[in-house]
Amino acid sequence: MKRFLALSLAVTAAMSVAAFAQQEEKKYPEPEKMSPRMSEYWTPQPKVVTPGDIKTNTAPSDAIVLFDGKDLSAWKSKKTGEAAGWDVKGGVVTVNKKAGDIMTKEEFGSFQLHLEWRIPKDIEGKSQARGNSGVFLQGKYEVQILDNYENETYVNGMVGSLYKQTPPLVNPMRKPGEWNVYDIIYTAPVFKEDGTYLYRPRVTVILNGVVVQNNTELLGTTEYIGFPKVAKHGDGPIILQSHGDPSKPISFRNMWIRKM
Ligand code: MG
Repeated sequence: MKRFLALSLAVTAAMSVAAFAQQEEKKYPEPEKMSPRMSEYWTPQPKVVTPGDIKTNTAPSDAIVLFDGKDLSAWKSKKTGEAAGWDVKGGVVTVNKKAGDIMTKEEFGSFQLHLEWRIPKDIEGKSQARGNSGVFLQGKYEVQILDNYENETYVNGMVGSLYKQTPPLVNPMRKPGEWNVYDIIYTAPVFKEDGTYLYRPRVTVILNGVVVQNNTELLGTTEYIGFPKVAKHGDGPIILQSHGDPSKPISFRNMWIRKM
């Protein structure tokens, strides 16, 4: 028995050596030799965009200007669909709490949004009742605007939060009376046929040059009461919130959006 085992091992070993030798002999084509130019392509060339002028706060050349200090012709009242009814003065628009929320006439999918906002210098109130507003992406998802300069509140409802979902990474808010700058990069969701998300909406928020949301997924609508809701939708407007808190109304300037 032992001898038989030794013999079969020897035979197997011999066969493997033969197979290896045979494999070595077989020649396959070598891959083509690469040159640097083989992995370089030249078209299509990205469209040339003239960036905005930092000194004069102008928008990039391919942006849709939502507010340039003159009028609210890009906006309407959410409640009535008529004129927006907020107060434009000195290149700045201030919330009119009686007029309610305002929304863009145009609707958007994925975009880059720029807006500047200012809390009044003599703001009063605490927690959520201090300069509360907000910007709704596709009319459904609120990036909170609130005076959280030395004013604490629930963190998933503070400035830079995706309201009642995700707190900001940090709080880079400027003092009341100074201008804050939001740059928001938003990727619209893709839905399955049953109305749930195939890909959730995602948002990056930069506040005063500091990242506060980094490609954060939204779970659904940003509800004041209850859980996020998911319902199939298409393009939607930008909505600016006129919050019912009793504090002084906040102001906006220099708003523009780029479709992506
Ligand atoms: Mg709000």
